[in-house]
Amino acid sequence: MAKIHEGVYFIQGRDDMLPDSHTYVIGEPSSNDLSIIDVGLTGKGGYKIQSIKKAGIELSAIKRIIMTHTHLDHIGCIAEIKSQIPGAELWVHRSEGELLEQGDDRAVYGMNEFKSMCLMQYGLKSDSFKMTVDRKLEGGEILEIGNMVWEIIHIPGHSMGGIALYNPAFEILIPGDVIYADHAIGRFDLFGANANELKNSLNRLAQLKIDILLPGHNNIVKDLPGDYVKQVARTWEPYLR
Ligand SMILES: [Zn+2]
Ligand SMILES: [Zn+2]
Repeated sequence: MAKIHEGVYFIQGRDDMLPDSHTYVIGEPSSNDLSIIDVGLTGKGGYKIQSIKKAGIELSAIKRIIMTHTHLDHIGCIAEIKSQIPGAELWVHRSEGELLEQGDDRAVYGMNEFKSMCLMQYGLKSDSFKMTVDRKLEGGEILEIGNMVWEIIHIPGHSMGGIALYNPAFEILIPGDVIYADHAIGRFDLFGANANELKNSLNRLAQLKIDILLPGHNNIVKDLPGDYVKQVARTWEPYLR
């Protein structure tokens, strides 16, 4: 686990046949009020737990798991993580949280063909992602957690309930799969995706001052150029209608 900033830690995803999302741990360790942001792909929970322990963090200090969205590469190992940290709450945007509670996994797999492949490949069951959500986020919340302030911004488009976490004091953005380094953005062809909403979400993020960009996959960026998100939004606009 690498320290990105005071109160922000990074565990790199280990892609397999499918991508494994990065995991971030936020909060000052001394607060005993830490949060895991995204857990990752099925089968990828073990090394992430080890990585947290190796950094000297007690698992009991982790109070919640916040999902940027519920795609399999972000939520797949939730059962592995919950078995190690049973007290951790699950926080997710209302729209995808309600689907999880109903046992509707369309937002997990994104498309039917993919679901049947995953059930076979990972030994998942049709109700593997039916679960209770402890807090349903709407967007607009100002979370005071771990001695830090994180704003929740609803950024649909890649998925219906995508959220970003934004720390205004240090200008850190955790946008899930909505925007990446290298001028890339998330796909917008899966269940619940919407190209026009993705365009609006990028424009929303372009209003923020961002110094550190911590996406769900690939490179993380420190010293982000001031107009980076605006440039990306402009580049992709012709395709997002
Ligand atoms: Zn995704
Ligand atoms: Zn992803």
